[in-house]
Amino acid sequence: LYVEQPLGEGQTIPLTREQAHYLFGVMRRGVGDTLAVFNGRDGEWRAEVREAGKRGGTLDAVEQTAPQCDPPDLWLLFAPIKKARTDFIVEKATEMGAARIMPVQTEFTNSERIRQDRLQAHAVEAAEQCGGTFVPDVSDLQKLDRLLADWPEDRQLMFCDEALAGPGETLGQAGGGKWAILIGPEGGFSEAERARLHALPFAHAVSLGPRILRADTAAVAALTVWQQALGD
Ligand code: SAM
Repeated sequence: LYVEQPLGEGQTIPLTREQAHYLFGVMRRGVGDTLAVFNGRDGEWRAEVREAGKRGGTLDAVEQTAPQCDPPDLWLLFAPIKKARTDFIVEKATEMGAARIMPVQTEFTNSERIRQDRLQAHAVEAAEQCGGTFVPDVSDLQKLDRLLADWPEDRQLMFCDEALAGPGETLGQAGGGKWAILIGPEGGFSEAERARLHALPFAHAVSLGPRILRADTAAVAALTVWQQALGD
């Protein structure tokens, strides 16, 4: 279970109404039962139910069962697509160990708005499902050109270019450190965007194979390629 509170021995964790409903209504837990909790910062803890009610309850943190395990410093930039597919990208990027998930607006991006709170909740759910101790931060929608104009000089960019002839660059040669992956929208990148991206000194154009992948497939494939070359 994901909680907001700091975790330490004897720490009391008050439950929200939704958490109480899930634990006591859906999962049928009761006073004295134990469960695993994490807050994205303090590792995984065993906690015991002290009070259980319909609208709330409390847990006591008992002992740490796993240390905090943060993923590599990897951002996933992607142009949001249809709702269910965007949810899929957030879920899979969380499982695959992205540290930050950043929806970006490109020239051909259809979506003008996203529900950041909903996407963040999906990241929490995905982290709970896969037993991780880290929850990636989901940003609000940002314009890609502004993001590139302010790009941090110590971060490299894996630019997934569907129009690349040949396999593109080998990531391993570019070295470790801070990275970001960029996936375009359903309509792909415009010619102007491609030209700009190719000219950026920190960008590495990579192909994900000879077939055009749907953006959600491309996100998972790109994360896999990156993890294989540079993940730990
Ligand atoms: N409309 C584009 C076209 O027909 O050329 C396809 C865009 S694709 C659905 C969405 C994004 O996924 C692309 O912008 C790119 O970032 C990524 N992508 C898909 N297939 C790829 C490939 N074979 N190599 C690299 N990136 C790919």
